[in-house]
Amino acid sequence: MLAELRNLHYQQTSKDLLARTQLITEQLIGDIDEDQQLWLTNIITRLGDRSATRITVVLADGRVLADSDEDPRLMDNHGQRPEILVAFAGGEGVSTRFSTTLGQTLMYAALPIYQQDQLIGCVRTAMPLADIDKTFQSIYWKLSGGGLLIALLAAPISWYLSRRISRPLEQMTTGAQRFSQGDFAVTLEETGSEESCRLAAAMNQMAIKLSGLIERETGQRSEIEAILGCMLEGLVAVDNSERIIRMNSAASELFEVSTTLLAGRPIQEVIRQAELQRFVQRALEHKGSLEEELILHGPQQRYLHAQAAPLTGAGNERIGVLIVLHDLTRLRQLESVRRDFVANVSHELKTPITAIRGAVETLIDDDSAETAAKRFLGIIFKQNNRLNALVEDLLDLSRIEQGVIGGSWEMQTSELLPVLESARLACESLLTEQQIELKVFCAETVQARINPPLLEQAIINLLTNAIKYSDQGGRVVIEVAQLEEQISIRVQDFGCGIPEEHLSRLFERFYRVDLARSRNQGGTGLGLAIVKHVAQAHRGEVRVVSVPDEGSTFTVLLPRQKDH
Ligand code: ADP
Repeated sequence: MLAELRNLHYQQTSKDLLARTQLITEQLIGDIDEDQQLWLTNIITRLGDRSATRITVVLADGRVLADSDEDPRLMDNHGQRPEILVAFAGGEGVSTRFSTTLGQTLMYAALPIYQQDQLIGCVRTAMPLADIDKTFQSIYWKLSGGGLLIALLAAPISWYLSRRISRPLEQMTTGAQRFSQGDFAVTLEETGSEESCRLAAAMNQMAIKLSGLIERETGQRSEIEAILGCMLEGLVAVDNSERIIRMNSAASELFEVSTTLLAGRPIQEVIRQAELQRFVQRALEHKGSLEEELILHGPQQRYLHAQAAPLTGAGNERIGVLIVLHDLTRLRQLESVRRDFVANVSHELKTPITAIRGAVETLIDDDSAETAAKRFLGIIFKQNNRLNALVEDLLDLSRIEQGVIGGSWEMQTSELLPVLESARLACESLLTEQQIELKVFCAETVQARINPPLLEQAIINLLTNAIKYSDQGGRVVIEVAQLEEQISIRVQDFGCGIPEEHLSRLFERFYRVDLARSRNQGGTGLGLAIVKHVAQAHRGEVRVVSVPDEGSTFTVLLPRQKDH
């Protein structure tokens, strides 16, 4: 920087020196003559004194004609001085070097002098570098002093300005740090420049909004937490990779695990229940919702009703499944008590009924008995038969139920036709009595996984109903069809039919459409309940379609085996 300044100063001085040389040259033109040496010397001495410049007049052959400071006779030939060489060539010669004559470093400038277009010599001016440096030094000191003064004046101003900017910034940084830690109690001071005021106001606004949002979020979260905590149903949310998202306290009690630190852990690792794990896998593979009954093994066997529904994220994409678990253990226990009770009562009733029946039969056969007595005995016999049928049906029902719950019915792959044939055989006398024509359509090859005696009982019940509720001389059709995933066994009659409003309750125990007619026919009201349980034991279902006065169609649907 300093060197550049010095260079600039030298350049300026050299231009100045050249300008002086030019002025002197113009004054001296006409006087450059060897005869006028004295006169010339006088002039340049005067001019040199005034301008504090050394002036030398050099002839075209290099000889010094006059010099303001020295005697030209003592001076050597100047023809080879660099500035003079340039001037002789017609240019503006400038050079800086040590002068042996004066014993100091000088800056020289030389310009040519022409007379009638003829180069007759040159005028050279010189200035000691020490003088130039001195002026430069004084400029330098002035500049430095000025700079220092400016710096001294600017320092407090800039300190004040920077404090004005940095203080609010510091305040805002601390505020932002506290906001990030969830502390919204601080309010930033709206001081300083207009920009920082606006920024502080915006940050305060942001803090109010954020704290409101967080408060609402926390409130909602604790509400959800409270609702989930109060739920009696177990709730487990699982992501697509079978990792737990969340579990409520009912679920954790059910599986005897703690609710803490469960999120993110694989469900297989947390809940070691094979049935539940399989259910979760099936639910994840399944597109819609899924329902199943599960048995949890452990010190105490537990029965659960599990429901799974897909969990969707914000973009409606599936993120996992939500599993809701109802504990059915207590219900199952009560059911079991009820079943045991019915079975025991039925069993107890069976013995006296059989004894009464035997005694009455003997009395009826006794020829000596009176007609009135025989009539009463007939009534007792009929009622006894009804009681017997009822007890038989109750026993069957509880037997089948026990099997469905315990899953103990043994299933085997069998053909259906023999089952239907033996059902027809069992109803043969009823068919003949009512003069009903029965048609069975079933291919010999149709097979299913069934328990033959159990299925036969269901078909007998349906067939008996079809015959009972058909008019004499009617027609009943049994038809087996193989559907895509099921096998259907249809029992169709063309009898009295059932009004629509009864259809939904038809399979309940003791539900009868026409009580008098049913009783008259010796019905117990348990036949269709047995059919329903048999279908369930086969993992199937039963459906009914009926039109009053046109007839009814009962369809048992059994799952079809894939390989058949
Ligand atoms: P029930 O022993 O009284 O026949 P079910 O459980 O077998 O008992 O049948 C329940 C009721 O359903 C019957 O009382 C009857 O009114 C009606 N029902 C069953 N099957 C038929 C049918 N094929 N046609 C008309 N009504 C029927």
